[in-house]
Amino acid sequence: MQVYNMQDKYIVNVKCVFCGSNSFELPYEGYQPELHEMIKCSNCGNANYFEAARKVAIQKTVEVIEEDVHKEIVKMFKKSGFKVK
Ligand SMILES: [Zn+2]
Repeated sequence: MQVYNMQDKYIVNVKCVFCGSNSFELPYEGYQPELHEMIKCSNCGNANYFEAARKVAIQKTVEVIEEDVHKEIVKMFKKSGFKVK
């Protein structure tokens, strides 16, 4: 399940903390659960605390975010006339 991380404006891929599946039983496609909600894994049937599953997903996304930030910084430097490798 992909959710939009409002704070950092990144899509994070939420996975079941029990089996690693990324499909959940949701009321409809694109449904964005509240942080305190429990979401049921459609693979193993375990209920995941959405906030916990989301946190794990965000941690895994951090590397990608850092890469993007780096690119942005390089762009900024280039704009201001610095030579960046
Ligand atoms: Zn599962």
